[in-house]
This record gives sequence, structure tokens and C-alpha cells, in this order.
Amino acid sequence: MENRHPAIATLLQDLVRIDSVNPSLVPGAAGEAAIAAHIADYLRAAGFTVYVDEAAPGRASVMAVLPGTRRDEAPGLVLCGHTDTVGIANMTDLPFDGRIEGDRLYGRGALDMKSGVAAILDAARTIAATGPLDGDLILGLVADEEYASIGVEQLVVKLRERGLHPAAGIVTEPTNLAVVHAHKGFTWGRIETVGRGAHGSAYDAGIDAIALMGRVIARLEAFDRTELPRRTHPLLGRASVHCSLISGGVELSTYPDRCTLEIERRMLPGETPAAVRGEIEGMLAALRAESLDFTATYTQFFERSPLKVPEDALIVRAIDAAATPVLGTPPMHTGMSGWTDAQVLDGAGIQSVLFGPGAEPDPAAESLSQAHAAVEYASIRSIATCSRILTSVARSFCRVP
Ligand SMILES: [Zn+2]
Repeated sequence: MENRHPAIATLLQDLVRIDSVNPSLVPGAAGEAAIAAHIADYLRAAGFTVYVDEAAPGRASVMAVLPGTRRDEAPGLVLCGHTDTVGIANMTDLPFDGRIEGDRLYGRGALDMKSGVAAILDAARTIAATGPLDGDLILGLVADEEYASIGVEQLVVKLRERGLHPAAGIVTEPTNLAVVHAHKGFTWGRIETVGRGAHGSAYDAGIDAIALMGRVIARLEAFDRTELPRRTHPLLGRASVHCSLISGGVELSTYPDRCTLEIERRMLPGETPAAVRGEIEGMLAALRAESLDFTATYTQFFERSPLKVPEDALIVRAIDAAATPVLGTPPMHTGMSGWTDAQVLDGAGIQSVLFGPGAEPDPAAESLSQAHAAVEYASIRSIATCSRILTSVARSFCRVP
């Protein structure tokens, strides 16, 4: 087997050296245009049909296709990774030099997730070099996962527009060569309490909107302490809710007429955004029933569903079969607490899990999360292992049954 380590080190180094900090997180940051251009060149040279799509100015994603030779009969596969990174303000290391020390390559995004992007690119090159598969092999290297995922949302639209219907997807977030088949979802909502503004001395006229919100907060906290711990998932722990942002009040000597609270509710598979909305509205209705002076509204303004793919799904079995001989043992199946782009693919009917490289070469090794860290690095060997497994998964999955 050809030693891919030097090629992968160069590939990842090139990606890390291109600043692609997400400008929605850090105003004025570079965005994904330069890294998309670099990836597009790489994949064109490898023989893929390449599209560069902008979801917003400067927010470019790459879609690349190696059309299958029997694409009507064989399932297609999409390999997906995000090209944006979080900011560098917390870093105590050089963010963009791509320094290599032994098996480690350092820099912002080295692990999350230019390591996974490098694994996809390397696997893609290997596959294309031996000719197309039966089914379509599609790559999505997308913008903006660290903020609002506009890149992957555009990807599922473009797949449809271009007549591509992959059966399954793998998102190569750094999972340390484990199969992640479940993660939480979340909702963001805003509660507004309405009081009555009045002079600070007019206790009989004023209704304190901040005090009303105090009742809401007490309810939410009790709900989080008593009800939500009963909702658990073997891989994901429990559901939760927390207060994120609060504002209210005008000045010291005035009763506040309004208070707003923004909350985040993390959902387990089986919970839905609509059910979460119903629970919060029910809580507010109960407070209104207790006291006539209580007025509040709830607006749920952002929702991301949980991910849950059965462990006997074809894509999970394909990864298991490909990974076991390479790792010497079946890959771990696990969950992840954070939300990922895999859910957008899965929600669009492309059954998707996560499987990507790690910070240490051995998946069994103790490894602290390096993602978003002050010092971030990835293991070049782990990327090479991931690339081998992705190559094998694609060849077995995109085959006429
Ligand atoms: Zn990531």
C-alpha cells in the first residue's frame, strides 16, 4: 500500500494555511472563497466535475461529482465536510502556519475540520485515479457550519437541482474514527413578559416585567432540574434548557414594561421543535392561570432537529465492514452532544452519519478535544487511516447490489 502520509501532510498544510475563519462569527474574517477555489482546483485536477456555489457573497462551497457508470442502478454517496473555522482570538499558537511535529499538524481548523476535508480529498483522488464507481460519488465541501450552515443547506438544494440523489452521506467531522449516528438538536426561543410602565413610587399602577420574568426563570430552572433529567438517551445524556440572554428595564425610577429572555433548549432524538414550543407555551399558560397580572409571549426563532440513524442502516454497516480490517477491530458506535451538518443531509432524505479522523493516530488512545482549542492539531496518520476507510466505503457502497 502506497504511503499517503506525505501527500496528506501537504494537503492539510495547504488547507490550514488558507485562512477561512467564518465571517458570521468574526466580522470581517476571510470566509470560504479562497479555500473553495483551492479545493475546486484540486478536485478538477483529480478528474471531478466541479461546481463552486455561493450561498452569500464570499461564502463559497464546492460540490464535486464523479458520475457513476451505472448511476440508475447503484446508490450514490456524498462525502461532506465544512471548510470554515472558528476564530483565532483564543489561540496561544500560530493559527495559519501548518507546522508539523512528528505525526501532528498544528493550526486553526487542523482538526475541526480541515483534517476531515483532507481525508475526503485524498480518498476522492485515489478513487478517481482508478476510474468511476457504479453509483455517483459526490463531495460537498461546504461553508458556514460553525454558524448557520448556509453551505450544507445550499448543497441539498443544488443536489436536487442537478438531478443527484445520493442514498447516504458521511460527514467527516473529527470523530476519532468512531461512527457517530446520533446527536442532539436544539431550539432557540425568545420569551417576552409585558408589565406596565409607571413611576417608581406608583406601586399600585406599575407591573414589573422583570419580576414577571423571574417567575418564568424559576419555572424553567425547575423544569430543567426535575423533568428534563428524566429524558435521557444512552449515548447523549439528558435533554436540557438554559437561559442565554436577558434584557429589560429603562431606568432606576421606572417600573419596567418589558423584559425579554432568550433560551436554548437542547433536544434528544424523539423530541421535536413543535413539542418544545408546546411545553414552553404550556408553562406560560400555567403562570397566566395563577395570576392575572402575568402576560408573556413565546417566539421560537431557530430550530435544528436531532440526528438518529439506526445502527443497522446500510451506511453504518458499510463503514463497519470497511473499517474493521483497517482498524483491526470494529469502529466504535457513539453519539455526539453538539449538532452537525449531518442532520441537514439526513433531513433531506440522505441517510447520514459522521465518521472522521482524530487528534491521535490510535482511535483507542485517550484524546482531549482539540476542536476550537487554544492549540489545535490533527494526526496525519489518523487522516490517512480515515482516507483509506472512506475509499473502501465508497467502492463498496456505490455498487450495483
Ligand atoms: Zn466542525
